[in-house]
Amino acid sequence: MFDSLSDRLGNVFDSLRGRGALKEDDVRAAMREVRIALLEADVALPVVRRFIDKVTEAAIGTEVLRSVTPGQQVVKIVNDALVEMLGGEDGDGAAAAKLDLEAKPPVVIMMVGLQGSGKTTSTAKIAKRLKETEGKKVMMASLDVNRPAAQEQLAVLGEQAGVATLPIIAGQQPVDIANRAISAAKLQSFDVLMLDTAGRLHVDEALMAEMKAVASVSAPKEVLLVVDSLTGQDAVNVAQSFTGEVPLTGVVLTRMDGDARGGAALSMRAVTGKPIKFAGTGEKLDAIEPFVPSRVANRILGMGDIVSMVEKAAASVKEEDAERLAKKMAAGKFDLDDLRMQLQQMTKMGGLGMIAQMMPGMKKAKQAMQSSGMDDRVLLRMDAIISSMTPKERANPALLNAKRKKRVAAGSGTQVQDVNKVLKMHQEMSKAMKQIKKMGGLKGLGALFG
Ligand code: GDP
Repeated sequence: MFDSLSDRLGNVFDSLRGRGALKEDDVRAAMREVRIALLEADVALPVVRRFIDKVTEAAIGTEVLRSVTPGQQVVKIVNDALVEMLGGEDGDGAAAAKLDLEAKPPVVIMMVGLQGSGKTTSTAKIAKRLKETEGKKVMMASLDVNRPAAQEQLAVLGEQAGVATLPIIAGQQPVDIANRAISAAKLQSFDVLMLDTAGRLHVDEALMAEMKAVASVSAPKEVLLVVDSLTGQDAVNVAQSFTGEVPLTGVVLTRMDGDARGGAALSMRAVTGKPIKFAGTGEKLDAIEPFVPSRVANRILGMGDIVSMVEKAAASVKEEDAERLAKKMAAGKFDLDDLRMQLQQMTKMGGLGMIAQMMPGMKKAKQAMQSSGMDDRVLLRMDAIISSMTPKERANPALLNAKRKKRVAAGSGTQVQDVNKVLKMHQEMSKAMKQIKKMGGLKGLGALFG
């Protein structure tokens, strides 16, 4: 098994306690481990190099969020770069799987790739998907006259998928089959024609010549290269051979259900420059999914939890809460429930230091916090105190007489003076908030909390 990247990075960052910006030496040390992890995940060497250079540059000097470790911060940076390189978040889900079918029907989709890559199966899977999810009338035709029974295989799959296939005429050559398929699809008003081209065990000139000839007679709107994600470096060589020879529009990565770590995806994208549109995830005809960059990045890194944790830390404030708060402040109301919400958000966002950094306009509130002796542990204690109050008390702190304060202190395991501190802080914060409001700072504040 692979050493997980988190173990590797753990060693590098164990010695690191420093805060603030990521230092060059530390980043470089981390990148050595990332490099090994990527190579183990089968990413091609030149692609790894390019990737590491890019990420190193981006990482040096990046601020480390308060509530995460430098190692976690690096993981997030690496993850984001992976997602970006795999096609970005926009390539996510349906968008990536979107085939360009805007043309006069029948729109031709040409499938290319080596024998055994899963080309025929993927052809049937995509045909089925187009039929079922987009209501397209699809016809498939096999141009594979090399492999015995390849045409019959497609016919069988067509039957299983409920998709029409071009009747087989023995002895006909690929370009002739393509022409016949186009005429048939036109005559019978098919929306889409999928051409399953011949594969070879290796890329050779005859194969490329055949692909070019088929492409020139069928003018495909999409040319999808099918590659087996388990073949790693071979897949890269295949992609390189096809790129430039045929007008590729996208990639289908098969056998993503296997234990490949997805490195081929990164290489594919880098080598072809084309989006990965689908991932094959099994032998059944439904086993195909839109390619999701973030999922594959996670697979390569094996660090999804850390990534989502850092994401949460960076953006933990909910919009509704922000709106609610803005409204209350506008009305000159800021009760203990609001204070508690703020405390919880502060904790999530990385504590006081982080807040102070993010809130240049909130000097007053910050001073109020400091004057009441707050640190990050105190945030939690204050939360406990407010939680021990009744809703009425929270809405109207004036209700809290000596007897009630005693009850709240006992309920939260604190002292009455701690309860008083919370109340004082609340008072000072509402004062500060009123001032901000007067200064017309509400808009800025809303943006900050949104
Ligand atoms: P072709 O020679 O490129 O047309 O390859 P085939 O479509 O005949 O596929 C070869 C084998 O791979 C078949 O047994 C398929 O069922 C299997 N296969 C294709 N795609 C996938 C996939 O995504 N996952 C798994 N596990 N098997 C697949």
